[in-house]
Amino acid sequence: MLIRCYDCGETQDDRAYSCMCGGLLEVVQDFKGLDAEELKMRFRHRLSERMSPYASGVWRYKELIHPELPDGEIVTKREGNTGLYAPEVVRRSLGIRKVWLKAQSENPSGSFKDNGMTVAVSHGRYRGYRRFTCTSTGNTSSSLAMYAAWAECESVVLVPNERVSINKVLQTLAYGAKVVGFDGTYDEGIRFYERYGSELGLYICNSINPFRIEGQKSIVYEIAQSLDWELPDWIVIPGGALSNVTALGKGLEDLFQLGLIERMPRVALIQAEGASPFHRMMSLGEQQLTAFESPSTIASAMNIGNPPSWKKARDFLTRHGGVTCSVTDEEIMAAKTLIDRSGIGCEPASAATVAGLRKLLADKTIDREETAACILTGNLLKDTEALKHTYRSELSEWDRGGLAMPMKLTPERVLGRLGSADAFNPIS
Ligand SMILES: *Cc1c(COP(=O)(O)O)cnc(C)c1O
Ligand SMILES: [Zn+2]
Repeated sequence: MLIRCYDCGETQDDRAYSCMCGGLLEVVQDFKGLDAEELKMRFRHRLSERMSPYASGVWRYKELIHPELPDGEIVTKREGNTGLYAPEVVRRSLGIRKVWLKAQSENPSGSFKDNGMTVAVSHGRYRGYRRFTCTSTGNTSSSLAMYAAWAECESVVLVPNERVSINKVLQTLAYGAKVVGFDGTYDEGIRFYERYGSELGLYICNSINPFRIEGQKSIVYEIAQSLDWELPDWIVIPGGALSNVTALGKGLEDLFQLGLIERMPRVALIQAEGASPFHRMMSLGEQQLTAFESPSTIASAMNIGNPPSWKKARDFLTRHGGVTCSVTDEEIMAAKTLIDRSGIGCEPASAATVAGLRKLLADKTIDREETAACILTGNLLKDTEALKHTYRSELSEWDRGGLAMPMKLTPERVLGRLGSADAFNPIS
């Protein structure tokens, strides 16, 4: 595979982690000889695969992701193949013509990180690595730990002690990864790899791993295929390290270049206010990112002050009329309640999409007659701590530590909890 530096254009070895100049790497695909109609047919046929690697919602698109990898080298857990839903309660609450939610939360380890990690681990193992590493706000480490276990390899992950959901740390440990905690934020983990990465002899699977980006492109391929190759007007995505919006942009440009779609949708990138250096840069029209020294948001998956992929994200959004927006933790949690009660559910970072869409509709950046797809990046069970505040009164009755008065079960108490037949309205 051809790997090139995004900054200086230098060609790199496909095991490289970053360029000598400090720039990010990217995979340069060669789509010569690929025909749109033929691809559509091939992708459709593969929807009926059950056992081969093509049953995966990532490897179904192998020609556009990692065409050179021998099929026998693929490490897959049938990731992708996630639901694209259009819940009416969410649509009504937002007051938009149509809204889809792409539930990446349905991935095997519970987040979209699986879409990229299957490709990074497959590639690393193919190139001879048996030991893998990353730093993470939680989901990347869970995903890496899962694939490393599945490939019978080892993994060691660096997890900041601050603001990482305990569910994700436990999930990572359960898959057998070694966890190294450290004081500070995700950004310090990234700096560690910049300094010592090449000495470690481990395959580094951080968000800047170019093969992860290739795998994450499949999210938008799947949305396009589900909608018969006609995308909605907007795609709304949360941003922390900005790898996912980078992959979304690259995937969209692939689809357009190949003639698989005829019209580019616009992209809205949403950050949490307490960790929004990229939104600040874009809204001020600046060309350089100024990091947030102490990022802070309940949406721990995007609690990142110095997003590594900001240049790629900036360039894509600038080329195609993308917008950015930031939302408060309160707005995120309100949107999460709505998504949870629609029956889909997600972790806080994912809910930033619906919160952001609401804001962009209110300020008329997005028209109510337009259509949108929001990418729900992680599963509801990924962060149960975040729910404790929302449901504190319910929890206080259930978990009283043996104090207070006894509570007997009666039909009155059970039915009384439901309220009148039509009073329940989750979207008010
Ligand atoms: C990683 C992650 C994000 C942020 O994605 P980036 O690629 O870091 O911008 C958002 N939500 C969830 C659930 C995540 O795990
Ligand atoms: Zn370079």
